[in-house]
Amino acid sequence: MTEETVYTCKFGGSSLADGARVAKVAELIRSDPRRRYVVVSAPGRKDPGDHKVTDLLYAAYENKRLGLEFREAYDRAERPLEHIAKHLDWVAGGKGNIDVAFDKILLDNEKIVHEQDVSADFVASRGEYLMARLLAMYLDWPFVDAKDIVRFTSQGKFDAELTQQIASAELKKYPRAVIPGFYGVRPEGDIKTFSRGGSDLTGAIVARATISTVYENWTDVPGLMSADPRIVPEARAIEAVTYRELRELSYMGASVFHEEAVIPAKIAGTTIHIRNTHDPEGKGTRVMHESHRGHHPVVVGIAGLKGFSTIQVRKTLMNEEIGFARRLLTVLADEGISVEHMPGGIDALSVIVPTPMIYDREVEIETEIENICRVDDVQIDHGLALIATVGHGMWHTPGVAARLTGALAKASINIQMINQGSSELNIIVGVAEGDYEEAIRAIHREFFP
Ligand code: ASP
Repeated sequence: MTEETVYTCKFGGSSLADGARVAKVAELIRSDPRRRYVVVSAPGRKDPGDHKVTDLLYAAYENKRLGLEFREAYDRAERPLEHIAKHLDWVAGGKGNIDVAFDKILLDNEKIVHEQDVSADFVASRGEYLMARLLAMYLDWPFVDAKDIVRFTSQGKFDAELTQQIASAELKKYPRAVIPGFYGVRPEGDIKTFSRGGSDLTGAIVARATISTVYENWTDVPGLMSADPRIVPEARAIEAVTYRELRELSYMGASVFHEEAVIPAKIAGTTIHIRNTHDPEGKGTRVMHESHRGHHPVVVGIAGLKGFSTIQVRKTLMNEEIGFARRLLTVLADEGISVEHMPGGIDALSVIVPTPMIYDREVEIETEIENICRVDDVQIDHGLALIATVGHGMWHTPGVAARLTGALAKASINIQMINQGSSELNIIVGVAEGDYEEAIRAIHREFFP
């Protein structure tokens, strides 16, 4: 270990759900002096029937927006934090210092939330803000507010380069710090959050800004799993994956890590280490560049999502018409529809899109395509599930697609679409939603016998 070795750690909501867990997290942080920058989520669920603080905050804001009772709803969201503060105060010797000081922070925030015209993003960000203030106080470390280091544009887009400049300059002033995840600020000064689960992204931003060698992402599962364990009980934690494999798997539904959070870590070459707070000795999953991993298994994991639709267009001699695909894609772009895949034939082309983007607008979209692309026929079908089988090792390995399709055929599952990316990093199949779970099990059995 060199003196410059810096770790950034991010703790997810489930690792911070009550006082005992937060005290354990603080011990973990203190047990390794390399852990110098800590990013936190808002407290999550303690038990399966519980609510996450962030969900309670959104619900409280909704009450405020509708002119319903707000004070009590906001109090309810704050309550887990009050309990955590009391527990930490007790662990720290019961002198009341933490409890009293945190009470003041809660009151100051309440005043803003109750008396000012605050946005949903501002209210939602209070979970992370308060958790970070509390942990910083307990560790006796500096608190650095995410609004001072994470920048969005006026349009609400994350500004990666400006953030990198500001965050690296700001964090240089602190040898260690606790930072709230999930939000940043627009140039106009108002708080803006990332999408849900966005504290992973804050962690990666901080890791890049502090030139951390390792970004420890602490969660409540053994690591990135070879498949969703609710579908495949024998799924196992993957020990090593590449950035691209992780991004493919998280984009396609593996929920352990926010898909965009891979990007800052990849730029900086930081190793991401997904770890389990309930099993700190466990191996977890290490995420790194292709060239660092050595042996590449053919398949590292399988992930998937339901909720896709196929827009199928047919037109005789489509193959001879220059610019047909562009016209079709322009119609979809003008309608604000993002395209996932585009398998085609000679006189037919299918476009696979997320169902919520076209639901209840089918007739309008069909008419628009007919008018602009002058097709013979357009047909929209819902109920498609996509499954990605991911692994760098399939590059130049013959027979992977054959094994996959063979496994599905053996399970009597019809493949509606198959697409192998030219990067040979993944094979995507589309199956009926009713076949989704069985298809994942069949593919998993084939590649993880
Ligand atoms: N608390 C936020 C959420 O529940 C962000 C996060 O936990 O990463 O989505």
